[in-house]
Amino acid sequence: MNIYVDTFVNTVKGSLNWTWKSICFDVPWYTNYFWGLFVISLIVWVLEIVFPWRKKQSIFRKDFWLDAFYMFFNFFVFSIVISGFYTIIELLFSEIGIGIQSLSLINLEALSVWFQLLIFFIILDFVQWFTHVLLHKFPLLWEFHKIHHSVKEMGFAAHLRYHWMENILYKPLKTIGVMLLGGFEPEQAFIVHFFAITIGHLNHSNIKITWGPLKYILNNPVMHLYHHAYTIPKDRYGVNFGISLSLWDYIFRTNYIPESEGEITLGFEGDEKVPSSFLSQLTFGFRKEKEKNKTA
Ligand SMILES: [Zn+2]
Ligand SMILES: [Zn+2]
Repeated sequence: MNIYVDTFVNTVKGSLNWTWKSICFDVPWYTNYFWGLFVISLIVWVLEIVFPWRKKQSIFRKDFWLDAFYMFFNFFVFSIVISGFYTIIELLFSEIGIGIQSLSLINLEALSVWFQLLIFFIILDFVQWFTHVLLHKFPLLWEFHKIHHSVKEMGFAAHLRYHWMENILYKPLKTIGVMLLGGFEPEQAFIVHFFAITIGHLNHSNIKITWGPLKYILNNPVMHLYHHAYTIPKDRYGVNFGISLSLWDYIFRTNYIPESEGEITLGFEGDEKVPSSFLSQLTFGFRKEKEKNKTA
């Protein structure tokens, strides 16, 4: 039993220590997700202020601070705690002989680093697109994803407003994706992660970008705005599920861009039941329908 407690405590301590070192600029710059997230946020926010799409939207839009808090909570606080649980799960799997290499189907080692990164990025993005579809398709999962869709005014920080359960739901498929690739994240994976954060921030920003002909490959703020639209075609459970790439939506015909008007109502039917405070949102998704009506 002790080994599990020790593993948990040591991993959480290690993650805490790493985050603290990141805050103090004591890690290589390219692994510094703390300040990296801060700098990307600042740049996208300045772009929103200089080139606003919805001109009437305030610089400090509705829920700006709530979402800013979510960014750091989901990226750091939550991941520090959960890192301990993940290492225990890894330990349990390795004890029954299942290691990170077990599923290895594709060996990338012979390829150039850039090609490895590209394949890593594409597989990880597809896995996340698929998970996102599941979050919309299954009512039980949708309950958690509602927090992300309760955004009523879009801005960059809405990117990381999501229920902590989403981290847990995305993890297994992401892990399988990495395992298929021979179980390694290339050393330069930071490029992929920083690129994904930037595209995600832009997708939620108040800037009209379509990427021209690249819109069939790259997700963009216009497409993602319609993902958050209150009114979607009646026969669909969602549209535009893309994370960084829009490609999957075009391939699987889940794309939907009726017009490029920025002033649309966001949310979903019943979104008034989502509580407005962070603490009440933490337990949202676990509550029964009756209790939700009470907090509305
Ligand atoms: Zn969604
Ligand atoms: Zn979104």
